[in-house]
Amino acid sequence: MAVQESDVVVVGAGIAGLVAARELMRAGKQVLVLEARDRVGGRLLSREITPGVWMDLGGQWLGPTQEHAYALARELGIELFPTYQEGDSLVYQSGKLRRYTGVVPNVGLLALLDFGRGITRLDRLAQEVPLEAPWQAPSAARWDAITFAAWIEQTMRTPIGRWGLTLFAKAVFAAEPGEFSLLHALFYIRSGGGVERLSGMRGGAQQDRFLHGAQSLANRLAAELGERVHLNRPVNLIQHDATGVTVHALHRGEGGIPAVETYRAHAAIVAIPPTLAGRIQYDPPLPPARDQLTQRLPNGSVIKCFAVYPTPFWREQGLNGFVTSDTGPVHLVFDNSPPDGSVGVLLGFMEGAEARRLGHAPPDERRQATLACFARYFGERAANPELYFDHDWSAEVWTRGCYGAHFPPGAWTQFGYALRPPIGRIHWAGTETALRWMGYIEGAIESGQRAAQEVLNIH
Ligand code: FAD
Repeated sequence: MAVQESDVVVVGAGIAGLVAARELMRAGKQVLVLEARDRVGGRLLSREITPGVWMDLGGQWLGPTQEHAYALARELGIELFPTYQEGDSLVYQSGKLRRYTGVVPNVGLLALLDFGRGITRLDRLAQEVPLEAPWQAPSAARWDAITFAAWIEQTMRTPIGRWGLTLFAKAVFAAEPGEFSLLHALFYIRSGGGVERLSGMRGGAQQDRFLHGAQSLANRLAAELGERVHLNRPVNLIQHDATGVTVHALHRGEGGIPAVETYRAHAAIVAIPPTLAGRIQYDPPLPPARDQLTQRLPNGSVIKCFAVYPTPFWREQGLNGFVTSDTGPVHLVFDNSPPDGSVGVLLGFMEGAEARRLGHAPPDERRQATLACFARYFGERAANPELYFDHDWSAEVWTRGCYGAHFPPGAWTQFGYALRPPIGRIHWAGTETALRWMGYIEGAIESGQRAAQEVLNIH
């Protein structure tokens, strides 16, 4: 097949790649987007469970200060609605279920003081981490030499305080606190605007949902780009030199027979998670620091679990559906019903170790495990939904884990500088390259805009 030519090739039609491509298109550049999957959106994946009722198997919330994301939703005419929060929340601790009003669970004064102190300290330390160069924080070497788990162990004085921050780690990073460095935790906290902003509903990152699913953002961008987006094109080789890039994608046409397609452009934007960027071959090979960086940035592990009921029956008891629990495998539950409450939906998260363990389990075991948790929190009615489904992001070949990458000890200080700078004519986008809201839709949009601007400035 003839070489297909354009000004810029974008690898990946997640939100970052699509935003980058649209910026370039608007600037008058010829752009092509190569996407491995048979759909756009990447980590945004929405499913219509009954007519007009959409569930997000991937990213689903926006919150204050995510200005790029709100602006994009507004521009594309995408409707949002607030996460349901009327009523009391539940906390399950040491075998006891308690309800509480507001945001502070009733787990004892000492534990609350300890937890509050821990959060204040994290927020204060995070202010010392420069977002553009976390390795230049005054205590970077020390903070990057220990895990977040070690810091929790050293700092927190009560078992509940330790549990609270461990749950924060699992919920926000989809990883165990022993898997990433304290420096990464602090970077991420600053990037998202603080512990409470990251973990909260009203005023926090879980404030608003997409009426027709978050993937609608990607679908509408792709519609604007039209035939510039090529699906089923996993890129496996990028050749690059002083004059441009040659990008090779393995396309399975009719009958499933693979054939290599070749694209030539002045520049490429690779808008995929770092671990996947490291699986592409580059000719000539990338500098060692870049390759060693991508060797070190694993994605977290998360399974989103949904149970659908005829009504949100927990609301009858004045409950808002929100649960935190010290007993897994589902430690965190939200009311994910549509805004009109026409059906009731509980959404549970399995994260970190639990997601790995149950990712291997037969689907029915996962279902039983989730529903046993829901019944523990909401009674026997929760054990018998009309519909159950879950989604394991580690099993997605073109994502390989979620919500995003985390930096284990040593990664930021030794290799962090290789994360963003372009290498010749290859530019990097994707939420993992964002300064603000790394790991989130907001960060992906910021990264796409930044990478497009880089290309426009340089090439
Ligand atoms: P991706 O979406 O990963 O896009 C990369 C694209 O590149 C994909 O389409 C992929 O198929 C493609 N690709 C990969 N390799 C190749 C290749 N070799 N060749 C061609 N194409 C390739 N964020 C929030 O803001 N709020 C939330 O509530 C939230 N919750 C989340 C819950 C879950 C379960 C998950 C999975 C994510 C969540 N996130 C959330 C994170 C958010 O979804 C991501 O930060 C964002 O979608 C990342 O966009 P991206 O474009 O950077 O990457």
